[in-house]
Amino acid sequence: RAKRDGRNAYRFFTSEMQAQSARALQLENALRRALERQQLSLHYQPQFALGEDDARCIIGAEALLRWHHPDLGWVSPAEFIPVAEASGLILPIGEWVLREALTQLRRWDAAGLPPLTMAVNLSAVQFRHDDLPELVGRVLDEVGMPAERLELELTEGAAMDNPSVAITVMNELHARGVQLSIDDFGTGYSSLAYLKKFRVGKLKIDQSFVRDLTEDAEDRAIVDAVIRMAAALGLQTLAEGVETEGQLAFLRHQGCQAVQGFLFSRPLTAQAFAEFVLAQVAATSAAAPLSAYAL
Ligand code: C2E
Ligand code: MG
Ligand code: MG
Ligand code: MG
Repeated sequence: RAKRDGRNAYRFFTSEMQAQSARALQLENALRRALERQQLSLHYQPQFALGEDDARCIIGAEALLRWHHPDLGWVSPAEFIPVAEASGLILPIGEWVLREALTQLRRWDAAGLPPLTMAVNLSAVQFRHDDLPELVGRVLDEVGMPAERLELELTEGAAMDNPSVAITVMNELHARGVQLSIDDFGTGYSSLAYLKKFRVGKLKIDQSFVRDLTEDAEDRAIVDAVIRMAAALGLQTLAEGVETEGQLAFLRHQGCQAVQGFLFSRPLTAQAFAEFVLAQVAATSAAAPLSAYAL
C-alpha cells in the first residue's frame, strides 16, 4: 500500500513536472520571437535619495523588463527571466534592455529631465559572458552616454558563482566608470569577505526584509545591521519595496540613503516616468531654485 501511494505520488510529481516543462518550452519558443515581434518593453521605477527632514529627490530609474504576448498575455519576469537564462536568450534580450534603457535616458535628457542614473538588471549568465565589459562600453559609446550614468545591478548569486571571475569583470566595468550594485542583498549566499573585494558602490536591501519592518523586530535588526555594515565599508544602501510611511521612517532614521517602492511610484512607462519627474521637479523648484535641487 505504501508502495502504491509512493507510486501515485511519483506519478503526480512527474505530471506536475511535465506541465512545468511544457510551459517552459512554450515560453521559450514564444520568447525566441518576442524581440523581433516587439513584444518586449521596459518600465521604469523611480529611485529616491533621502535628504534632511522629509526631503527626497529622484536620483534614478530602474529599468524593468515587460513581456506582452498576444495569446499568453502579460508574462511576469519572475517566470520568463529563468527561461531566458536557461535557453541563452537572455544574452540578446539583455543587450536589447541595455541599449533601450540607455537610449531612453538620452531621450529624457533631451526632454529636460535632470541627469538621472539608469539602473539595469544583469543576469548571472550575462555576467559570466566573456565580452560583457566590452559590450557595455560599446553600447554606451553607441548611445553617447557617459558610463557614470549607468548602474548595473547584479545578484549575490551572479557575483558568488565564481568570485574571482566576478572580481575581474567588476574591475573592468569599474575602470570604465560604470556603477555597480548588489540586488536583493541578503537573500543570496554572499560571503562578507568578498564584499570588500567587489567593486560595488551600493547594496540594494531586498524587499523581503522591508515588507514587515514595522511588525518584525528581527527584520528591523537585519536591516539596521546591513545599513551599518554598508556604511562601515563605504557602501551606499537602497531599500527596495518600500510601501508604507512607517517603513520609510524607520529606514530614514537608520541612515538608509535611498529608497524605491510603491509608496513613491510603481514602475511606469517611459512617458509616464518623464511626466512624474517633471512634476516633482516643478514642485521642488517652487520652494527652491533648481540649482539647489541636489541631484
Ligand atoms: P528586482 O530587480 O529586485 O526588481 C524589483 C521588483 O520588485 C520588480 O518586480 C518591481 O516591480 C517590484 N517592486 C518594486 N517596488 C515594489 C513594492 O513596493 N512592493 C512590491 N511588492 N514589489 C515592488 P518585477 O518588475 O516583476 O521584476 C522581478 C525581477 O525580475 C527583478 O527583481 C529582476 O530580478 C528580474 N528582472 C526584471 N527586469 C529584468 C531585466 O531586464 N533583466 C534581468 N536579468 N532581470 C530582470
Ligand atoms: Mg533590480
Ligand atoms: Mg531586487
Ligand atoms: Mg529580485
